[in-house]
Amino acid sequence: MGQKRKKLCTVCKSKGIRKEGVIYMPEHRLSLCEEHFNEWFEKRVKEAIKEFKMFDKREKILVAVSGGKDSQVLWYVLNKLGYDTDAFFIHLGIGDYSDESMEKVLALGELIGKKPHIVRLEEEVGAGLPVLQNYVRGTACSVCGRIKRYHFNKVARELGYNVVATGHNLDDEASSLLANLINWNLKYLARKYPVLREEKGFPRKVKPLVKHTERVIKFYADLNGIPYTDRSCPLGDTANLHFYKEVMEEIENHALGTKYRFYFEYLKKVFPIFSALKEEWVEGELTTCKVCGEPSPSEVCFVCRLKERVKKDRTQSG
Ligand code: AMP
Ligand code: ZN
Repeated sequence: MGQKRKKLCTVCKSKGIRKEGVIYMPEHRLSLCEEHFNEWFEKRVKEAIKEFKMFDKREKILVAVSGGKDSQVLWYVLNKLGYDTDAFFIHLGIGDYSDESMEKVLALGELIGKKPHIVRLEEEVGAGLPVLQNYVRGTACSVCGRIKRYHFNKVARELGYNVVATGHNLDDEASSLLANLINWNLKYLARKYPVLREEKGFPRKVKPLVKHTERVIKFYADLNGIPYTDRSCPLGDTANLHFYKEVMEEIENHALGTKYRFYFEYLKKVFPIFSALKEEWVEGELTTCKVCGEPSPSEVCFVCRLKERVKKDRTQSG
């Protein structure tokens, strides 16, 4: 993808220096050498943080890391830019996939001299995801998403972080926007933004990598020796997700820059309209779970109910 067309670094050239670029990004018409690529990459992350008023240097940020390239790069780059970050990893109990992911998180922690917070579902809920998915309707991914969000909120609150950052990139955001528009999933669209303000016991949620594509993030990870795993979750049914990513890519190849425009013009021109209607679309009031104290639509939250059922089965079978 554009790799063959290595040209002279655009920035060096503007200073009268002839230096070959290490990457060519046709969507930006930019070829950059190692130094200028890193500079450019980090500058765009800073721009996203400022543009969407995500956080500042006085705030404590909890970075949700999965061991994959996006969130690993996010932790590395926020740390490099001088933000006050710690990482949080949920060990989902999915065999050696979870072990390998955790190793990558720990390796990055060593590299930057920080110790990540780790929660193990087996200890916290009583079983890993392969068992938990049998207790609920819906796909493994939807259960996993709910369990992860619950722990992001809980850990942030307990440890005093008011911001949670995730590694979602431009490809994730543009393709899920496309999928949700096609299905007129208005409830989702009303909340689709790189920042969700803190409310009702939830921390602020931010996505500082929204201006970068997967390809560019992977390139940054490899260039800077950031450890990450390439494996995808063995439980995940990602066919639908991949389908919309491929469709988006095809549109992008047809007209360079469309992916970026589609997402960012949406944020500017359409999101405010949907967001104004949010109250009508977002269901019900939240109360506080009487067991764990987290926000919940029911008296006892989803995770506490799950925990209770796992425990009951254990005592019956044991
Ligand atoms: P995904 O939904 O798997 O694409 O992940 C989206 C984002 O959620 C990642 O970029 C991470 O920031 C975060 N995340 C995913 N899995 C984990 C995990 N096991 N522990 C902590 N954060 C995670
Ligand atoms: Zn609860």
